[in-house]
Amino acid sequence: MFDTNSLQVLSAPPDGFEYSVDILIIGAGACGLTAALAAAEQGASTLILERDATPSGSTAMSYGAICAAGSGPQAAAGIADTPEALVEDLTVNTQGQLDRELAQAVADISGETIDWLMASHNIELTFEAAWTGFGHRAPRLVAPDNRSGVKLMAMLQNAVSRQEVTVVTNARWDRVYRDDAGDVLGVGAVRPDGSVEQVGCRALIIATCGFGANAEMLAEFIPEITEARYYGHEGNDGAGIQLGRLLGANVEYMSAYQSLGALAVPHNLVIPHVILIGGGIQINVRGERFQNELDNISGQALTILEQPEAQCWMVTNEQLHQDALGRFEEYRQAEALGAVKRGEDARDLARNIGVSEERLESEVAATLAHVTERGTDRFGRDFSGASPLSGPLYAVRVTGALFHTQGGLSVNRHAQLINGEGAVLGNIYAGGGAAMSVAGTGNAGYMPGVGLMMAVNLGRIAGAHAAAHYSR
Ligand SMILES: Cc1cc2nc3c(=O)[nH]c(=O)nc-3n(C[C@H](O)[C@H](O)[C@H](O)COP(=O)(O)OP(=O)(O)OC[C@H]3O[C@@H](n4cnc5c(N)ncnc54)[C@H](O)[C@@H]3O)c2cc1C
Repeated sequence: MFDTNSLQVLSAPPDGFEYSVDILIIGAGACGLTAALAAAEQGASTLILERDATPSGSTAMSYGAICAAGSGPQAAAGIADTPEALVEDLTVNTQGQLDRELAQAVADISGETIDWLMASHNIELTFEAAWTGFGHRAPRLVAPDNRSGVKLMAMLQNAVSRQEVTVVTNARWDRVYRDDAGDVLGVGAVRPDGSVEQVGCRALIIATCGFGANAEMLAEFIPEITEARYYGHEGNDGAGIQLGRLLGANVEYMSAYQSLGALAVPHNLVIPHVILIGGGIQINVRGERFQNELDNISGQALTILEQPEAQCWMVTNEQLHQDALGRFEEYRQAEALGAVKRGEDARDLARNIGVSEERLESEVAATLAHVTERGTDRFGRDFSGASPLSGPLYAVRVTGALFHTQGGLSVNRHAQLINGEGAVLGNIYAGGGAAMSVAGTGNAGYMPGVGLMMAVNLGRIAGAHAAAHYSR
């Protein structure tokens, strides 16, 4: 973990900068790369500093599923949707705990951004017709065909190199140089040999993501999740957020986070929720269901951690198992590693995974009755249209984990950093996990695809605005 005391805000370096660019971006994840595309497209000289030897970030760990309202792929699938409907869903899901102006600014361009990424930058994205619910009134997600964030990163990096943007890797940003008026003049980044690369800029975009890997910040802002394992990128150490604060920026929604109760143990692979959406259930190690599996996707980490052994099994049928195998790279890996257990029926599965045969059989029978009778179960889950849990069954043991923090630097609708009074702080922008999101407070407000929605759209907004106002 980085040392907060090592972060510095300094005046201009006495010997000037080694070189300068118009737009300097810190962090080569989805946000930073998209910001670079938007800035370079307008002819701004653009450079990214990245702490890792090979950029990956939380983006590479994700499914690469991006939420958008009014995208071309959505229209082609015959789905009528609008930015207003998305903002309404976000507002309902967060119980009004969001910056509506920011939500609207992002929603307004969300569909267009997907079309732009696909048409102008050859980012191939597939529409996820099956991924809905959890706050979304309509299917809104697009993702790489193998649902792999690694592929999304590869496509974004290729696009950025086509725009001739330089990405300097092994460069960990830890200092800012600014003038008396508060404008950023440039930054310093530590190289592996301990030397400091000093780069001047006309505008700075902070795209360093959140603070999931920073135990002190988690204890301060999200104490309820400190016991959970962290399954995001180690570079999400909060340095960018802390540097933004040193520059005078406000932070908001710092208690908000995305967790998930679908991390296979001990394999550390994410099991896709389509298994549950399609009709699967979760049972604890006693063989009992304990919640509505389709309610509050993010909050499920905590409810699973409260179960015996802090684990549960995701149970599904042949059809949903085959569907997940066909579409999800990580599920294929889970199967290959033996994480997916099989049984001829509920009792056989119970024996194979070591839970009570009677309880599992009774839970599966109750689920089947709800599917047939189209009823709502004791947790309020509606099984209408669900694929019945009959025939051979499959199960994967999972636990809850923190994936991503959702609070961060306060920004306005142009992604410019603002202070506590809402005043713009000169030539500094933020986006993605480094900026505040529209996921409310706590874990209940997160909707699928919103993390990357905030990354690509705030990145695009920041890159375009910075290039329009600060390039030579
Ligand atoms: C397992 C998992 C699955 C997820 N699935 C989804 C999903 O399907 N859909 C969705 O919308 N969201 C998902 N999320 C959340 C999503 O990954 C994030 O919201 C998104 O990747 C944030 O993008 P970013 O560019 O802000 O951050 P990142 O991708 O983390 O990029 C930040 C970059 O900044 C670099 N950096 C950090 N500090 C410094 C520094 N001091 N100097 C230089 N460089 C620095 C990092 O090394 C990193 O490369 C998931 C998250 C996880 C962990």
